[in-house]
Amino acid sequence: MKMIKEAWDISDIEIKEDVNLSRFTTIRLSASGTIVLVKTETALAQLICLFRKKSIPYHLVGWGANQVLISTQNTVFIKLAFELNAQELSKSKSEYYLPASVPLNILTSHASKFGLQGWEVFTGIPASLGGAIYMNAGTALGEIGSLIKSVSIMTIDGQIRTHIVNKDSFSYRENHFVKEGEVILSAIMIHKGLNTEIKEKIKEYLTFRKASQPLTTFNCGCVFKNYDQKHKAGQFIDICGLKGLSVNGLSVSHKHGNFIENQNNATSEDFSQLIDALKFELELHSGIEFELEAKVY
Ligand SMILES: Cc1cc2nc3c(=O)[nH]c(=O)nc-3n(C[C@H](O)[C@H](O)[C@H](O)COP(=O)(O)OP(=O)(O)OC[C@H]3O[C@@H](n4cnc5c(N)ncnc54)[C@H](O)[C@@H]3O)c2cc1C
Repeated sequence: MKMIKEAWDISDIEIKEDVNLSRFTTIRLSASGTIVLVKTETALAQLICLFRKKSIPYHLVGWGANQVLISTQNTVFIKLAFELNAQELSKSKSEYYLPASVPLNILTSHASKFGLQGWEVFTGIPASLGGAIYMNAGTALGEIGSLIKSVSIMTIDGQIRTHIVNKDSFSYRENHFVKEGEVILSAIMIHKGLNTEIKEKIKEYLTFRKASQPLTTFNCGCVFKNYDQKHKAGQFIDICGLKGLSVNGLSVSHKHGNFIENQNNATSEDFSQLIDALKFELELHSGIEFELEAKVY
């Protein structure tokens, strides 16, 4: 979609019109569309208000590690490129003020260096902080929601509100406070004390992840949510013999059944076809309707 001319007058944004969007998601599906990189909160407020006034649909892309973009022709994608104040991570503190665009691997390095207990829960998850909060990303060690004190959010009117995290703020791979069209701007993160063993724990967990997940291929992480701790989507895919099932350049990973890998210029249509086939087989053989974890937009 072509960008409206008023948007070109906004400072601190970079408009990429009709570009190949594949590099903005980790599964790298081919799709062309328009994406705007936004450097400041002021610019974001102007952009959102303009889109709202002109009824232009927009959608947030973080690291693109859990997303498949399909509606690329009638939506403008927004990616935050807020600056991280390097001072923030220069020493260990009890609270950190962090922009939504900071990648989690930078936070893992900080946790490893200073031994921040609790931060090991997001070891190896490719994500921006905003995307991780939105998804309540986590591993077998825990979820990021347990480390968030408050979240600063831009409303659809371009206003800023603060959500103080409480026991109902998060559940498995979900937040319950970001409304449709709102944007996570930043968060205050806490930890659970200092512990010199965290560095080793992070190292061990990274080794475990490398052995059990296809971390070096083009994929979007787990495609389905686990039904519960006993009914894991990946295990059912394995039991049903669905590993390796392919549609054009897209295949179910041999390493982990809940991952779909783009091996050769696959498209979003290929993704939809493969998902439909998997859902059908899974429901037939397990009786469970597994819900998608990956966000298809
Ligand atoms: C190899 C691999 C391994 C993975 N392993 C794990 C794992 O162990 N555990 C796990 O939980 N996940 C895992 N994932 C999935 C993914 O890393 C997480 O879901 C992560 O939280 C996504 O963050 P993101 O920044 O990429 O968000 P995106 O995928 O870009 O977006 C996810 C959702 O968040 C919304 N969003 C993003 N940023 C904002 C914002 N600032 N404001 C409002 N909404 C926003 C998007 O619109 C979208 O709906 C893995 C993915 C890959 C590719």
